Amino acid sequence: MQIHAIEADPIRKQSLDKSFQCFATAIIFERRFAVYQLRLRVLTYLGIVTPAVVGITYVTYGDESTLTLCFVALAGILGTIQLIVSLWAVVARWDEELEYSEESSLENRRLSLIFDTHARMPEVSGAEATVLVGNANRDLESLEARDRLKSVSDGEKRYGYRAALFEKDLVCKCCDKTPSSIEKPSDCKTCGCYRLLPLFTPIGALR
Ligand SMILES: [Zn+2]
Repeated sequence: MQIHAIEADPIRKQSLDKSFQCFATAIIFERRFAVYQLRLRVLTYLGIVTPAVVGITYVTYGDESTLTLCFVALAGILGTIQLIVSLWAVVARWDEELEYSEESSLENRRLSLIFDTHARMPEVSGAEATVLVGNANRDLESLEARDRLKSVSDGEKRYGYRAALFEKDLVCKCCDKTPSSIEKPSDCKTCGCYRLLPLFTPIGALR
């Protein structure tokens, strides 16, 4: 169905807007998922590799070797850092954040697809559309309530909005431009003005 036909139908237009909104939210939680996954993997890796390297060095060179003493000293520093970060990971519940981010991104993707299908497919109409959209609206309401508890920052919202504009090749309502990149945000107060830090650092879009 053509975009002007969708916009002429208020119900389909509403579904198209919701599809966009769900897609943007999915992108935000996908980014969070990647960040928490990487952090937890690094912590697990350090927990295995540090004692393993010290053990191999000890067996190979003995406990009097300078190399062994250097590795033990280094392992002590790494172990302390790992312990501090691991404790923070427990307190900040990184594993729960990882799990929720995955669940929310998948659910938002699913709802985005349903709303998009309803908006664009002429054959989805009448009673079928009422059931489809009714169920999706209920799911979305519940999901939004849970997502709100996750404190999505303004920067993240702009990041998600820009990513959705980019993916769907749409024009920003504020700067009237289609984003050419997500990695390099513009100065637009609606689809830019965020700082995409390297993946291990805080949740993507800040400032
Ligand atoms: Zn803009």
